[in-house]
Amino acid sequence: MNKNNLKSELIKIDKKRLKIRKSYKSKLHHKINIKLKNSSDYIFFPKILISKNNEQLRYGLSWHYNGFIIKVDSLVMEVDPGVNFLLRLTESKYNITNINKLYISHLHIDHSADANTLMEYLIRSNSNIEIFAPQSVYETNTISKFHSGEKISFNNIQSQSIDENTKLKFNNININFFPLFHGVECYGFNIKYKDKLISYISDTGYSREIKVKNKIMKISEIKKSIGADEIILKNETIKKEVQHSDIIICNIDSFQYNKNSKTHLSVLDLLDILKDSNCKKLILSHINPMGEILYEEWGKKISKYIKNETNINTFCSNNNGLKIILD
Ligand SMILES: [Zn+2]
Repeated sequence: MNKNNLKSELIKIDKKRLKIRKSYKSKLHHKINIKLKNSSDYIFFPKILISKNNEQLRYGLSWHYNGFIIKVDSLVMEVDPGVNFLLRLTESKYNITNINKLYISHLHIDHSADANTLMEYLIRSNSNIEIFAPQSVYETNTISKFHSGEKISFNNIQSQSIDENTKLKFNNININFFPLFHGVECYGFNIKYKDKLISYISDTGYSREIKVKNKIMKISEIKKSIGADEIILKNETIKKEVQHSDIIICNIDSFQYNKNSKTHLSVLDLLDILKDSNCKKLILSHINPMGEILYEEWGKKISKYIKNETNINTFCSNNNGLKIILD
């Protein structure tokens, strides 16, 4: 192929490319127009995309799959978009332009890595989007480009800092936030809609002291991984915030207490939170694969254990994702 032929071929491809892009843009607009017709409310977790053979993800980068979407009436809120979240949504064939709110509970990368990409996608599809996050999230690079007052060439984005005193209201939906204990500023939330209450507990520690072989140990003194015989002092603030909830979405890490439990709930912590609660549906999130056991099996076993102990229906996302219809 001579030089000139190649040039004319590239021009041809270039024209075709622009045409396709234009038609795809109008497809996105079309999707926006039909999105509100889907009236059922839901909580949606996209596919996980970790195969049995993908050792790097299973054993190393095991924080690859946070994030979910909650739809209640007109609110469609993406919560904690972790690494690969956008890809996972696409793989799950979810219409991303449905999303109109974004909540980031704290600045850790497994809760915020895909926020910018998601924003960019929504801006380009002319969706209106509101972001809610602690001030410390805006101070990182995570979504600072889109924070109000800075680089505001996009007028379809609004952002707001939240803390434990923030109360949001969208038509007849109310959201309030409560503080968690995670080493960085971090908040959970309650969504109240009609007579339904839905809570999200993001990453958090719970107990202040534990009992090991009859010896009471302060959490702050524990240096190594350690299993607790009994959790003896609980954090009543978290329990109080969620005890009236019908549905609780909760991040958990391990089964029993170990050094990670300083900043992440164990299943045994969660059982204490659920004791005497109103919870009818529990959704487990942020579960890490453990050695030889796959995410899916681990989640199933934990769900079964919690169901046995509390009789609460417990769900865990799996390789195919998870959709819970709210009735
Ligand atoms: Zn975290």
